[in-house]
Amino acid sequence: MLSQQKHPRTELTISFEFFPPNTDEGAEKLAATARELALLKPKYFSVTYGAGGSTQARTLKAVLDLRAAGHAAAPHISCIGSTRASLRETLQQYKDSGIRHVVALRGDLPSGTASAGEFHYANELVAFIRAEFGSHFHIEIAAYPEYHPQARSALDDLKNFKRKADAGADSAITQYFYNADCYYHFIEQCEKMGVTIPIVPGIMPIGRFSQLARFSDACGAEIPRWIRKKLEGYGDDTDAIRAFGLDVVTRLCEDLLKAGAPGLHFYTMNQSALTTEIWKRLGL
Ligand code: FAD
Repeated sequence: MLSQQKHPRTELTISFEFFPPNTDEGAEKLAATARELALLKPKYFSVTYGAGGSTQARTLKAVLDLRAAGHAAAPHISCIGSTRASLRETLQQYKDSGIRHVVALRGDLPSGTASAGEFHYANELVAFIRAEFGSHFHIEIAAYPEYHPQARSALDDLKNFKRKADAGADSAITQYFYNADCYYHFIEQCEKMGVTIPIVPGIMPIGRFSQLARFSDACGAEIPRWIRKKLEGYGDDTDAIRAFGLDVVTRLCEDLLKAGAPGLHFYTMNQSALTTEIWKRLGL
């Protein structure tokens, strides 16, 4: 059992992540998806942000649209490739728009981009937000139970995570994973180091295998061999992939909640069907 993460079911933090749409049609579709997912009563929706501010305006617009429709929403913000002045301006815009919750990240520089800007790591962004905006924002940070792909070692990554939490984060959301043991181990390590913020597991529903394989290769999230083999074996049979994926991910969520995870953060890919089905099966 995860001692510090144990939360009663009624207090679970359930959240859903979107990416900002880039067309009017995408925006309408997202509004419909949010309406459907709002029926599940999440704590908030979050909206991703392109590194170097590439989707900055669209992220803010998507968050404001969600808020105007009556939903709680938190923008992501990344610091790599940015200056202090540009981040201050973005954060001020968030504050002026009534936003009090952000997901603070380093981000990844697009290949070929020369300058890292004035920030190198997310702990610097967290410290900057606290220094400039005090306790105005609830700050979420990213966690990697399978360790960040660029980490020099697992221990180094854990120390970096602690540094980022100690800089003033309120809670964390993990990269997705399909092997619950890595999450339990990560939490134990954090507790031993004195990191006490809630660390909510990130959940990636399984829809299309090729897409999942691509994401996983890019972000270093492991698809266990038995799951990869089964998914590969289904070929183009999307119904079979969906049915198997729902079983696997629902079981994962059940195990995590039973062990005391403080909530679940779903990477929805701007779709409601798989997340809704998992939520129903969990009896939340
Ligand atoms: P950091 O915490 O800075 O860590 C990055 C690497 O640097 C790690 O290997 C770490 O060990 C090392 N490190 C950290 N601090 C130090 C230090 N002080 N000295 C030396 N080494 C250090 N990306 C986007 O572009 N937009 C998004 O909206 C977005 N949303 C995300 C949401 C979640 C929940 C997650 C898990 C990831 C998200 N990402 C997003 C991806 C994220 O930006 C990348 O994984 C990025 O490579 C790392 O970001 P970070 O904030 O975890 O970085």
